[in-house]
Amino acid sequence: MTTPPRTSLTPILRGLLGRCPACGKGHLFTGYLRQAPTCSHCGEPIGQIRAEDGPPWLTVLILGPLLAPLSYIVSMKSPAPLWISLIALGVFAIGSVLFLLPRIKGGFIGLLWRMQQTA
Ligand SMILES: [Zn+2]
Repeated sequence: MTTPPRTSLTPILRGLLGRCPACGKGHLFTGYLRQAPTCSHCGEPIGQIRAEDGPPWLTVLILGPLLAPLSYIVSMKSPAPLWISLIALGVFAIGSVLFLLPRIKGGFIGLLWRMQQTA
């Protein structure tokens, strides 16, 4: 097992990419958000690390300030009918959440794994 230095961001970056924070080779998830019980490459027990409500919280924290003004701009400035603009905005918002949530969860797991290593 390769353990990165204590101050390294490597475990977080590996988690953001959906990889094992310990080795960077095995997959972190077996489904969209379901964690693998152990790393398929190094055997690290990554399934025991619980991110809980952190990833959804951070996703809302990132996307909220972006989507709120965007929805105002789209509703006021769009040349398309309002219902088309709102549907497009809804699709963009849902797509953004679906894209970001597993990456943020992976980053959280990487951070928690690093904190376990340094504790
Ligand atoms: Zn691994």
